[in-house]
Amino acid sequence: MKILVINAGSSSLKYQLFNMTDEIVLAKGVCDRIGLDGSMVKHTSGENEQIIIEKSMKNHADAIAAVVEVLTDKDIGVISNMSEIQAVGHRVVHGGENFSGSVVITADVKAAIEKCIDLAPLHNPPNLTGINACEEIMPGVPQVAVFDTAFHQTMPASAYMYAIPHELYVKYKIRKYGFHGTSHKYVVERAAKMLGKPIEELKIITLHLGNGSSVAAVKHGKSVNTSMGFTPLAGVVMGTRSGMLDPAIIKFLMQKENMTVDQVDDMLNKKSGVLGVSGVSSDFRDLCKAADDGNDRAALALDMFVASVKRYIGSYAMIMGGVDAVVFTAGIGENTPTIREAIMKETEFLGAGIDDAKNNSSRGVEIDISAANAKVRTLVIPTNEELMIASDTENLVG
Ligand code: ADP
Repeated sequence: MKILVINAGSSSLKYQLFNMTDEIVLAKGVCDRIGLDGSMVKHTSGENEQIIIEKSMKNHADAIAAVVEVLTDKDIGVISNMSEIQAVGHRVVHGGENFSGSVVITADVKAAIEKCIDLAPLHNPPNLTGINACEEIMPGVPQVAVFDTAFHQTMPASAYMYAIPHELYVKYKIRKYGFHGTSHKYVVERAAKMLGKPIEELKIITLHLGNGSSVAAVKHGKSVNTSMGFTPLAGVVMGTRSGMLDPAIIKFLMQKENMTVDQVDDMLNKKSGVLGVSGVSSDFRDLCKAADDGNDRAALALDMFVASVKRYIGSYAMIMGGVDAVVFTAGIGENTPTIREAIMKETEFLGAGIDDAKNNSSRGVEIDISAANAKVRTLVIPTNEELMIASDTENLVG
């Protein structure tokens, strides 16, 4: 079965075409600058080099049409006809409390996604536009929605409720939702395979550490807590997001700096995190280099990031009554041995600990980096949200 995976943002649209018989990516790419001057498709077929095709794309429907065109191109295409695409899987950021799993898209599903726009104003509108564009261009082809929030819908109320007046939950559905669910789910399933145990017997802490970072406590295959909250601003220190902070700081800043609520929101989302602390960069490669060169604020930012992740590992081991494995994934988790080492330092009391040689040798591959005698395993597992979306889509329509 050939499945197209779509991740639509406001001015970009990422795509991957899978052949699910052997889970191979036939082609992938991104439509950039949709609705802007200089829009282009960056496309890669199979193992070939990326090519850039300048293409006017006024909206997401134009982008989907461009994707179909390049996939079926007589020279660089990987399918001969659009009808070979048997289903489309869409990443949708917010499913609110409505979806605890992926679903085939119907008019009711679209209405429910629309209702969640208040909760994800930057993400759900382009996600919906992508769905509508596919329906228009590929009528009759089944479409599936895979939600970032769905995996965390198993959290108990004690984990997802905030200690604010209950009426606010009833009125606005203010609660913890959690994000990166597709990634946490994917790595936890891979971890169970690597450990050779049924997922129902395992307690796993998954660390998705990228530009946005989140930690999840996954007990017996179900998310029981996660660090992001009502929005992806909460939790650990991130590239440009503050993560957890005392909410009283917001009022203080508004008064002292004469900031509007939007300015504070912008500052906490885009100018904080390791970028704000270091003044150097949000990118961990730059930060590690600056810290190595003696930049104290870059070193402080890295220490704060590490400490914030450690705080969740400790807390989630306690919440689950133990832990069998800690999993590192995403850009930083997969590629930065020094950060993995710092996070797992002095975790022997938990029964964890890593093997330095294995940790340093591993970049971007699935590997168990635990110390030989560690009871709690430490795994590195490259995430693959697109494959998860494709496989959910196949399961629902196959
Ligand atoms: P996003 O949340 O945008 O998907 P990623 O998961 O790609 O983010 O993570 C980006 C972070 O991973 C950056 O801070 C980057 O420095 C870090 N990183 C470290 N090494 C690498 C690498 N070899 N390739 C990509 N990202 C890396």
